[in-house]
Amino acid sequence: MTAPLDFFQYRNGVLSVDGVSLATVAKRFGTPAYVYSAEGFLSPLRALQSGLEPAPHLICFAVKACSNIAILKLLARAGAGVDLVSGGELFRAEKAGIPGDRIVFSGVGKTPEEMRDALSYRRTGIHSFNVESVAELQLLDSVARAVGRRARVALRFNPDVDPKTHPYISTGLKKNKFGITRREVREVIRNLHGLRGIDLRGISIHIGSQLTSLSPLADSFARTRALMDEIEPLLPAPLDFIDLGGGLGITYRNEKPPRVADYAKLVLRHFGPRSGLPRSLQIVIEPGRIISGNAGVLLTEVLFRKAREKKDFIVVDAAMNDLMRPSLYGSYHEIAPVDLRTARGRKMKTDVVGPVCETGDCFASDRNLPTRLDSGDLVALLSAGAYGFSMASNYNSRPRACEIMIQGGRIQVIRARETFEDLVRGEKGGTD
Ligand SMILES: *Cc1c(COP(=O)(O)O)cnc(C)c1O
Repeated sequence: MTAPLDFFQYRNGVLSVDGVSLATVAKRFGTPAYVYSAEGFLSPLRALQSGLEPAPHLICFAVKACSNIAILKLLARAGAGVDLVSGGELFRAEKAGIPGDRIVFSGVGKTPEEMRDALSYRRTGIHSFNVESVAELQLLDSVARAVGRRARVALRFNPDVDPKTHPYISTGLKKNKFGITRREVREVIRNLHGLRGIDLRGISIHIGSQLTSLSPLADSFARTRALMDEIEPLLPAPLDFIDLGGGLGITYRNEKPPRVADYAKLVLRHFGPRSGLPRSLQIVIEPGRIISGNAGVLLTEVLFRKAREKKDFIVVDAAMNDLMRPSLYGSYHEIAPVDLRTARGRKMKTDVVGPVCETGDCFASDRNLPTRLDSGDLVALLSAGAYGFSMASNYNSRPRACEIMIQGGRIQVIRARETFEDLVRGEKGGTD
């Protein structure tokens, strides 16, 4: 275990953030709990900022990766914007005070209401809409004209490259539902004069998530650059930004994802000040996982140990409703005992499971874990900061966990644990 422990470290034998022990956090706020390191978010953000420094740029954190308002505020104070995929996320952005010119709106299925809200966000509207189909462009045009505005748009180009990641998080292939083809882009440009509500300003791409090599990104950048050169003479006005999406991978286990500096160099080579494109071209990126993934852990307590002939089971108080990635994608999360004393001695093959009535409610199978781990001990599921809490549900009527942020040694509850009353709010016979 190396990279996932960048921001969470053993101090006096106890897993800690900024000197705050996770045992203390569990005692004060209970488990399961999402615990975040503020520095864990800021450090990759700064690395991206300094890598893209030579070009005008905007780093829009993908809100769906980790949506808490306090986290959006933290990132916004450090200069980031946000990438949204729903009206609910726009609402969060507004609560977090994100300036409109730092908001991009992605997603294949925007509704007219969402378009209207984004067009009138804080009166000036948002930076841009990433438009994913010709039908969406036509709808956005009519909504914009109805509210008396022009929508700043980037066409989401599907570069048809295989990102070689999990099929559920691969989005840049022709067979995926995302984006529009090169032919459609040309056709849209030819018909732009009929779309007075549309102000075409950019091209966007996003080919997939958890990319552990730069080569699919390099391919998609090259194809995007070729497209830009091809459409340049057809455009009524030059493009003023390029949105390169997100997708950079992190280390969950032993992956060796590209370094941020190398990613930034690749971006600059294709689109930066010395790429032959106008120096004023703004580079937008939409990183999610790389910013929040290793900034958070899911802290959970062992309820029981169950011995079986071939292996043991450890039942913890967190479940698939709290962290869905293992059951959804079969993904790996490192399991770190909070107190190193429980990590000593003999180890054996163990499955770590939650209490939910589904066989899929399993965080880890056949892990070599200490036999000493038992009822009352704490473990942390590492690298849970992206697509963790934001994917949590109330399945099995389990209240969602609390979210705790630690910054400069200070503990802050950024989301209270849900109560049973929260579970039935809005239900007939519940509380309203
Ligand atoms: C999910 C998503 C992102 C963020 O992806 P990561 O892999 O978390 O960086 C960025 N852009 C779009 C359009 C997305 O759907």
